[in-house]
Amino acid sequence: MSLEGKMLIGREAVSGSSQPINAVDPATGETLEPTYVGGTRAEVERACELAETAFASYRESTLEERATFLETVASEIEALGDALVERAMAETGLPQARIQGERGRTCGQLRLFASVVRAGEWLDVRLDPALPEREPMPRVDLRQRHVPLGPVAVFGASNFPLAFSVAGGDTASALAAGCPVIVKAHSAHPGTSELVGRAVQSAVAKCNLPEGVFSLLFGSGREIGQALVADPRIQAVGFTGSRSGGLALQRTAQARPQPIPVYAEMSSINPVFLLPEALQARGKAIADGFVGSLTMGAGQFCTNPGLVIGVKGEALDAFLAAAAEGVQGSAAQTMLTPGIHAAYQEGVQSLAANAKVREIARGQAGSGPHECQTALFAASASDFLSDTALQAEVFGASGLVVECADADEMRRVAEALEGQLTATLQMDDGDTPTATSLLPILERKAGRILANGWPTGVEVCHAMVHGGPYPATSDSRTTSVGSAAIHRFLRPVCYQALPEGLLPEALQDGNPLGVSRLVDGKRES
Ligand code: NAP
Repeated sequence: MSLEGKMLIGREAVSGSSQPINAVDPATGETLEPTYVGGTRAEVERACELAETAFASYRESTLEERATFLETVASEIEALGDALVERAMAETGLPQARIQGERGRTCGQLRLFASVVRAGEWLDVRLDPALPEREPMPRVDLRQRHVPLGPVAVFGASNFPLAFSVAGGDTASALAAGCPVIVKAHSAHPGTSELVGRAVQSAVAKCNLPEGVFSLLFGSGREIGQALVADPRIQAVGFTGSRSGGLALQRTAQARPQPIPVYAEMSSINPVFLLPEALQARGKAIADGFVGSLTMGAGQFCTNPGLVIGVKGEALDAFLAAAAEGVQGSAAQTMLTPGIHAAYQEGVQSLAANAKVREIARGQAGSGPHECQTALFAASASDFLSDTALQAEVFGASGLVVECADADEMRRVAEALEGQLTATLQMDDGDTPTATSLLPILERKAGRILANGWPTGVEVCHAMVHGGPYPATSDSRTTSVGSAAIHRFLRPVCYQALPEGLLPEALQDGNPLGVSRLVDGKRES
């Protein structure tokens, strides 16, 4: 399929008329064709109009129709073949295996949501039958199910050109919920976005769904992104990116006459606590694991372990020495965009210039234009506690080790942390009392707590939480990865004393959909 450099609005391919966008190969600095001319408010208006029209019938699609649509999107993405992998590699600098793996994950999560839609648990059906004889007051018949919110705006992420972009987790979960989706493509990978967008467009047509179920816009977030979130037909927003971008969109959403939820995943430094027995027994292995996770994908993961916390002493010194050796041996890697590379350089320079921070090691310098040189720093816990700048996310392979006087100071560091996507305990059996005292603190800070693993690598499954208190996300009550992500785009409706003929199928007597239901507080078998 050849790239046309056009937006996809419903079934049409449309040329924009605002700022031109060209992808840049970050490995070479070369500009990639074609040029994508950004959209204007007119395209936002048209996409929203079509999405609103489509919502009326898409929300009523059967579970089977919606599941088949999600599976068709996955098949259409696979049918793009090597062209998708090659374009994504050129636009991101990511290696082939990573892009192929991400494509598998993207299609896997679309199929996971298809199975979730079919099972119907997400409808969360509850029936409280009428109790006309109840004293002192009779109870009327009450039935609850969940319904989709309406058209959703999705902002593709820079660091996952497939799994968190056009047909990524936000889009899959919103479509599964019954919401049309308008994607604002990330400007770093417009060709990848167009290819995937055409796959979704084709699936819409093959499944005979209304064209407005999906549209894809290119252009500046500050213009069309803001206009999209401000449009009264948009009912929720999914976003992955910077804290400033997420907060700007949240302000816009809150300032609307009808405020709407923004599910923004923003920044996290993913603390790792080195508990004393584990550090003593296997400090070298932990250091190796840490450097592997820190440098994976040039550190461009929201779950990158940017903060390590241990108690001062010989064991922590040995850990630092081993980690320094690993960092020094780490190869430079191309970063996703010139902008992300510049932000990384700035973050590392500001740590290096901070008098409270000492440099432990740097990785190998690169020869390409936008390569990430790994960096490792250390600071005392008292300095960390007195300088909130040391908690700022440096997006890339940069880590800070915090040296505590004792376990009490480690707990104070934990208490001072901002909200996180993850928190990790490196622990052995003898560390259980310390871990037990940290756990209630970490539950208030993070969406996922790990023992003896590394936070990079997020399983797409039913129990996953990829979320956490601010600034990790704008809403800690949800997840953006895994099947529970569907709940972000649903709301409950209660039907009181409605005649059987008016009730939706999920709530009708005899359970025609065969979904799991809570009847008078008890799970129906
Ligand atoms: P970004 O600058 O926040 O951009 C993400 C998307 O939001 C883009 O489509 C952008 O549009 C749009 N946007 C940005 N600011 C906006 C605003 N004020 N109003 C409306 N839309 C806006 O993020 P990025 O380009 O992915 O990377 C920049 C930094 O984000 C990184 O250096 C890193 O610090 C952070 N990041 C964090 C994570 C994480 O998961 N923690 C992941 C990726 C990136 P444009 O096309 O106009 O730019």
